[in-house]
Amino acid sequence: MSPAKIIDGKLIAEKVRESLRDRINRLKKMGITPGLAVILVGDDHASHVYVSMKEKAFHQMDLLSETFRKPANISQEEMVGLIHQLNTDNRFHGILIQLPLPKHLDEQTVLDHIDDDKDADGLLPASMGKMVLGMEGPLPCTPHGMLMLLKHSGIETSGKHAVVIGRSNIVGKPIANLLLQKREMGDCTVTICHSRTKNLAAICQQADILIAAIGKPEFVDRNFIKKGAVVIDVGVNRVDAPNTKKGYKLVGDVNYADVEQIASAITPVPGGVGPMTITMLIYNTVYLAEQRLKTMED
Ligand code: NAP
Repeated sequence: MSPAKIIDGKLIAEKVRESLRDRINRLKKMGITPGLAVILVGDDHASHVYVSMKEKAFHQMDLLSETFRKPANISQEEMVGLIHQLNTDNRFHGILIQLPLPKHLDEQTVLDHIDDDKDADGLLPASMGKMVLGMEGPLPCTPHGMLMLLKHSGIETSGKHAVVIGRSNIVGKPIANLLLQKREMGDCTVTICHSRTKNLAAICQQADILIAAIGKPEFVDRNFIKKGAVVIDVGVNRVDAPNTKKGYKLVGDVNYADVEQIASAITPVPGGVGPMTITMLIYNTVYLAEQRLKTMED
């Protein structure tokens, strides 16, 4: 069998961003620049890298992105106060809190203070509830990005068996729900697996579409893959690579070299799901700006 088609996240992210240009221009003509407020607490290196990537992407699209950098010892009251201030700041259509937060802050309580209509991540209970009910709302960025990858690669989902490994609130649960929905890029028969699943490889071998969101480097090998399956690798894992300049490299949850001869299509890491997440954050911010305009017009 020939090697799997590479699902190019960078290319598809660019297409999705281009498709937003008209919507952004329409808002700008009305004096509205979609804006995102990011709260970044502490000095976790990876979080700083992610936030600067987000800022750069927003600026490239001529959108507003402002980062509120706070020390690691910020109190819960100060965090909540900042969120309330951003809730009422009309420049921002979306608010994002870069996770993880330092241990002394209660993540869920802090997130709960963000107004539902500023949920840029699509991860608040109201947005997740709407998603499960098939109602319109901001969708969680990474899972929404995965749907876009499938759509732009011409991969049919209807009637397919999708197996999702991972049940996190940010990836596993929402992508399983989205693939289940009775609509375009849905209509899958979905199986969700996790660390307590028995006969994991045998279940995965039944998948037409396999989603790996585990957080374990190169965990999924050829024994998990049915011939011709589509493989979406969400994992981003840092592994030692002493011969490289950085001393490490990023690998997915899938052993790419082992799987590419069996799968029909596969996302690389990096360059697959990753570029889509920031793109869908832009998408959500534009969507939230449009929603606010709609409410004002009604
Ligand atoms: P998470 O919250 O740690 O969840 C991992 C899931 O994998 C859990 O449900 C866990 O099961 C399951 N799991 C762990 N070991 C397993 C095993 N041996 N067999 C079967 N299932 C197993 O991780 P996450 O936030 O979903 O992220 C997953 C990966 O995606 C990470 O590498 C993360 O960095 C990456 N990620 C990438 C993006 C992106 O934009 N590219 C965005 C988000 C996440 P239990 O529930 O039973 O513990």
